[in-house]
Amino acid sequence: MQRQQIETKTQEFEDASPYEILAWASESYGERLAIVTSFQITGIATLHMLQGIAPRAPVLTLDTGLLFPETQDLIADLERRLQLNLRRVKPRQTPRQQARDYGDRLWERNPDRCCHIRKTMPLRDALAGYEAWVTGLRRDQSAGRASTPILSRDSRSGLLKIAPFANWSEDRVWDYIREHDLPYNKLRRVGYPSIGCWPCTSARLEKGDARSGRWANRIKTECGIHSIQRGQSPVEAAHG
Ligand code: SF4
Repeated sequence: MQRQQIETKTQEFEDASPYEILAWASESYGERLAIVTSFQITGIATLHMLQGIAPRAPVLTLDTGLLFPETQDLIADLERRLQLNLRRVKPRQTPRQQARDYGDRLWERNPDRCCHIRKTMPLRDALAGYEAWVTGLRRDQSAGRASTPILSRDSRSGLLKIAPFANWSEDRVWDYIREHDLPYNKLRRVGYPSIGCWPCTSARLEKGDARSGRWANRIKTECGIHSIQRGQSPVEAAHG
């Protein structure tokens, strides 16, 4: 899709449901469409909705080697329940090998490099061969995500990036999760608003910022997959 087509379609999709957007994505890209999820609540709703559209769609999740056991349990549970066509994307180095080459606890000294090694590069490699990918970004998650487009050209991978739930609120996603009796990460019950690698996730929550528990007390707000840092708009990030 050309940039103009993307902008026209994304406007059109402002009034569409995530189901309609996912159905269009599946119809347009088939097996060249990847679902990328870290099994947050929007990712869970995405996977469930896809059961009625493309149940064997390729699902990629980044297994950094530093996930909470609760997250691993949730992934295994949903993989079994939904019969997911799931690929756990791993970094080239184990945490131990990374510590040997870059020193212990790289996430404390240089989290950008750590995310680059454990998330950004592995995802870039895993997306090779696809033409489009689905993400669970929502505009209400943080100030940095407030103008997330439903469709954009991903500046890192060059693929079409699709955010079907961009204009859903967190409450609406929770309603969907409850309505369909879907499992979610047990850490949500003890105050974790967004759950990533254990060294960089805390239960802290600033009002109105669902991602404030990620890299708390640092300027970093994103791992790099979505290319959004404070001061840069998502549209700039999406279009490079
Ligand atoms: S979230 Fe933290 S531990 Fe995980 S890859 Fe990024 S810096 Fe490393």
